[in-house]
Amino acid sequence: MEYYSSYINKLIEQLSHLPGIGTKSAQRLAFHIMNMPKDQVAQLTASITGAREKVRYCRQCFTLTDTELCPICSNPRRDASTIMVVENTRDLAAYEKTGKYEGVYHVLHGAISPMLGIGPDDIRLKELMQRLQQDVKEVIIATNSSLEGETTAMYISRLVKPTGIRVSRIASGVPVGGDLEYIDEVTLLRALEGRVEL
Ligand code: ZN
Repeated sequence: MEYYSSYINKLIEQLSHLPGIGTKSAQRLAFHIMNMPKDQVAQLTASITGAREKVRYCRQCFTLTDTELCPICSNPRRDASTIMVVENTRDLAAYEKTGKYEGVYHVLHGAISPMLGIGPDDIRLKELMQRLQQDVKEVIIATNSSLEGETTAMYISRLVKPTGIRVSRIASGVPVGGDLEYIDEVTLLRALEGRVEL
């Protein structure tokens, strides 16, 4: 790749670190950026830096937000006694899009995966258990139906059960191995309504 300017090589290298971007895609993006008007490039870099600087974790549910308490946690009309546990903010957004869920969330930021060396301490599980000391009636586990998602669901149910709080798992209308964010709203709602107690 030494026929490119070292600046372009550097850009290609940085882009190829992004998920789903191989060297070829990184090259295509880099050359696309080279052809973009300068002010558009400035806007792109400003939104990347801005998002990275301003966005943080909600102190209660740990979703990504730009306020201390996210709009869902700070909404008095949401039912704070029902907590839906999801793997990431994209999954939360998928359920929010249905507009039918009235409880609050807890975002784990991952799932337990012995194969990848991700244990219970590497996701926001401790924080979930701390929240359960407040007035919580039900924990709905909505992790993905992948091996990791199921392992995590099992682990959480074992932790929550002794507290006497109701634990349920969304129904298997969600295809096995399916990522929540790619599933349509009807299927998501059906999975929520058909949840089973663990
Ligand atoms: Zn929140």
